Amino acid sequence: MAPSNLSAMKFPFENPKFIFFTDFDGTITLQDSNDYMTDNIGFGGDKRRQGNQDVLTNKDTFRESFRKMMDSVTRPYPECIDYLVKNIKLDPYFNEYFQWALAHNIPTVILSSGMEPVIRAILKNLVGPDHVKLAIISNEVEAREGKRIDEEGGWKIKYHDESDFGHDKSLAIRPYANLPKDQRPTLFYAGDGVSDLSAARETDLLFAKQGHDLISYCAEQNVPFTVFADWSSILGTVQKIVAGEKTVHNAAQEGHEAFKNGKVGLNGSARARATHES
Ligand SMILES: [Mg+2]
Repeated sequence: MAPSNLSAMKFPFENPKFIFFTDFDGTITLQDSNDYMTDNIGFGGDKRRQGNQDVLTNKDTFRESFRKMMDSVTRPYPECIDYLVKNIKLDPYFNEYFQWALAHNIPTVILSSGMEPVIRAILKNLVGPDHVKLAIISNEVEAREGKRIDEEGGWKIKYHDESDFGHDKSLAIRPYANLPKDQRPTLFYAGDGVSDLSAARETDLLFAKQGHDLISYCAEQNVPFTVFADWSSILGTVQKIVAGEKTVHNAAQEGHEAFKNGKVGLNGSARARATHES
């Protein structure tokens, strides 16, 4: 029997052979909802990008940088949720992946640095009734001292743990990784950015989004990965692995080869750093 805190061993399926952990913002969705909110109704894109850069160069922690972003958004929380539900779009193939995963008893667990009420509202809107079968482990929201979250300047982010990430995603994955071999499912992870660094080393196969920061980090740190452009490529790879046509090891090797051959489409800052490092 699995220890009781390993909820993905029971929900929504008993003793799955595979578990798919995934980032939410920019991975399942096309836009990062926190970036979107910061850029449009918070302190703006320039300050946000400077903050990201400060995290990548170790001048600031993700935890503090992200708190500054969220603090710059002062609209009442329900308005923030409505704003994001109206504007955030799903990866066009995520639902196809998700229905296939449900049909093959593969739980999907969202590990996010975002806030649960926002994530749940967006999923409810874009995934439909089956959104209840997606587990979410994320940060939360709370009222500021003497205020309510539904008033102007009334809310702040409530972090999941004490780590410099605010939410150390590796903590959720490690108990599964440490299961005895005969019980341990194969673990997948998909992500795109800075908040995924803590999870990147923990799973059997990491899908890193084409053209984003996570790829250059993985290459620098020798963390094996495979590249995805959208969830159709993730689905294709997972289907081959589940069917026994490909091993996770082979899939990870392919990602590293693609990186070495310059085929992963790194974007501005990621490319600059990768070039600098090599
Ligand atoms: Mg992300």
